[in-house]
Parts: sequence; C-alpha cells; structure tokens
Amino acid sequence: MKKTEFLQIFEQYNFSEIIKELNEISKQEIETTLHKALHKEKLNFTDYKNLISPNANFYLEEMASLSKEITESRFGKTISLYMPIYLSNHCRSSCLYCGFSFENKIKRKTLNEAEIKIEAEILKSKGIDSILILTGEDYSNTPVSYISNSVKLLKNYFSSVAIEIYPLEENEYKEIIFSGADTLALYQETYNPETYKNYHIRGVKKDMKYRLNAPDRGGASGFRKITLGALLGLTNPNAEMFFLGLHGDYLQKTYWQSLVSFSLPRMRPNASDFYPVVDVSDKEFLQFIFALRIYFNDAGINLSTRESLKLRNNLIGLGITSMSAESKTEPGGYSNSNELEQFETEDKRSLSEIINLIKSKGYEAVLKDFEKII
Ligand code: SF4
Repeated sequence: MKKTEFLQIFEQYNFSEIIKELNEISKQEIETTLHKALHKEKLNFTDYKNLISPNANFYLEEMASLSKEITESRFGKTISLYMPIYLSNHCRSSCLYCGFSFENKIKRKTLNEAEIKIEAEILKSKGIDSILILTGEDYSNTPVSYISNSVKLLKNYFSSVAIEIYPLEENEYKEIIFSGADTLALYQETYNPETYKNYHIRGVKKDMKYRLNAPDRGGASGFRKITLGALLGLTNPNAEMFFLGLHGDYLQKTYWQSLVSFSLPRMRPNASDFYPVVDVSDKEFLQFIFALRIYFNDAGINLSTRESLKLRNNLIGLGITSMSAESKTEPGGYSNSNELEQFETEDKRSLSEIINLIKSKGYEAVLKDFEKII
C-alpha cells in the first residue's frame, strides 16, 4: 500500500503521549491562544491543541463567544439542512459498536432502483435538496456500480449528493464524482490504533491504514467537500480531537480545491446493546465544536440527530453550519420499512419543525446550499 503523506505524519505521533501532552497544557497557554483569537491573530496548530486540552473546558464561555462571532462572519445567519438515505444495511465488516455488524442476525436489505425512487420522492416532497447516501461495507452486494447508479438516479431529484460508504480507490472515487456526487464523508471512527484494532474485528474495516488513506484518495480524485469525523466515546476524546484536527489541517493544505468539514458523532446505543466506553459530556462536546470553529474558521461543522433536542436547539448560531433532520437510519426508512436502525436518533422532530426552530432563532434554514456557493 502506498503511504500517503498523512499516514507518514500520523505515524510520527503516539496516542498515549498526546493524551499526556494535552493534560499538561496550562491555563496560561490557553489564555494566550484566546487572546490571539480575540485580537484576530492567525492561530497555529499549537493553539488548536490548547483549545482541545482538558483545561480549556474552563473557558467555555469565551470559546462560545468567539465561535459565534467567527461563524456569523464566515457563514452569515444560515444553517444548511440535509437528510440521509440509507441504501443498504448489508455489511461484511464487524464493528462492535454498530447494529449493522456482519454477525448481527438482522434482516438485511439493499434498496433497488424503484425503492430508491420512493425514498427520493418522499424527501423531495419535503423540500430537501441535499442528501447523504449511506451503505454498510459490502463490496459485493453494493459494488461501486450500484453506488454510481444510485448517485445518478438521485441526482435527478437533488442538487447535492454526498456519500458515506466504504473506502474506495482513487479511480472508483472519480467514477462516483462523475456520476454526480460532490461530497465524501469518511469518518476514521478512532485514531487510536489500539482501540481501532479492538473494535474493528472483521472485514475491510479492520485495515486502519486503508481507511486513514481514503480521504487522501478522495482529495486526489477531486471531491468538492470532504467530511472527516471521529466517533466520540471509544477512547480519550481530547486525543481523538488532536488527530482529527491534524487530519483536517493536512487535507486543507494539501487538497485546497476541496472544502474540509467535520462531524463529531457521539456514540448512541444500538441493536448490539453497545454503550459508550468513555463518557463525553455535553460540555466537552461543546468545547470541541468551538475549538474546531476557532481554528478552522471556514470549515463546515455538522450536527446529527444523535444529539439531544436541547443541545441541538442551543447550538444554532454557536459554531455549527449544517444539521441533519428527521433522519431515518435504516434502508427504506422514510417509506416505513421497519428494518433495523443503525443507531437510535435522539431528535425525532420533523424537517418543518427544525426549519421553524432555526427561524425562531433568527437564522435562515438553507435547503439548497449550491446557491450560496455559485
Ligand atoms: S460501522 Fe459501517 S462497517 Fe462497521 S459494522 Fe457498521 S455498517 Fe459495517
């Protein structure tokens, strides 16, 4: 396997040492970073480290205020909305935290063209124009040709189609872009090699390096946007945020034609009754969103329906730029298939309720974000 530059950078660090380094960051160092941010001085990666360190949690109010100001100046008072479409729950990999794991004896389903059209029509009728398609990791049941055809079909309904599927080769990504997809979402899940090994026990997903290299392949193939993420709740979250930031920083500098954005999924219970190993508090979660915003001024930050109503209500205007709404996490979910969900959603409000919420906060809900860009 060809080592990308990021893999080489990644291998220079040790997860346990990063935890130690972050724990040693003093309040004075954090205050220096906040002072720089307040005076609009350019921040460096050391500043980002300071902001994600445990001690920075004492400065939540200052960070929230900076994050709000930066978000408004870069994105205006807007929140983009998107909805996921699960195309398949077939999966040949096993991740201990996921309901779709290969060993789980659940009813498997891959949507055919007619079924995809039904889901698309339901979402289109709600006014949504940006979708995210998802599959498990089954290279034979949902091959690249299936993904590619699905993207082509869905482009008849939506301006923006993002993919969150298994990692591909560069030429395969190019094929998917050619079919009409503009965004690659690929979450590393965890950047801790030990944790990665313990929780990904079967299939292609076992290969941490192959996954770690995938955003590079996506960047080289020309995606308009690349979304990175870490699944918070498996290991030390501060160190996860360090590596997520390192990854984002590298991608942003290397593939300048692609916008980098972030998601911070926090673990939710699922069919395997898997519960978070490490508790990530709301205060930590907020700190991480603010830190991303203060350092990555122009990056999109997504907020999923995994989060509580209260948190989603209060985060509007404080750093996030995009929210999913009314999400169903099973194939055929919008036409009531009763298949098994990948994880439970917390915020089950309808799209129109979320639009009203955004408006009530003085923000505009954007259903078609192309207009903002072109
Ligand atoms: S997280 Fe993805 S790869 Fe892992 S079991 Fe679930 S669907 Fe399969």
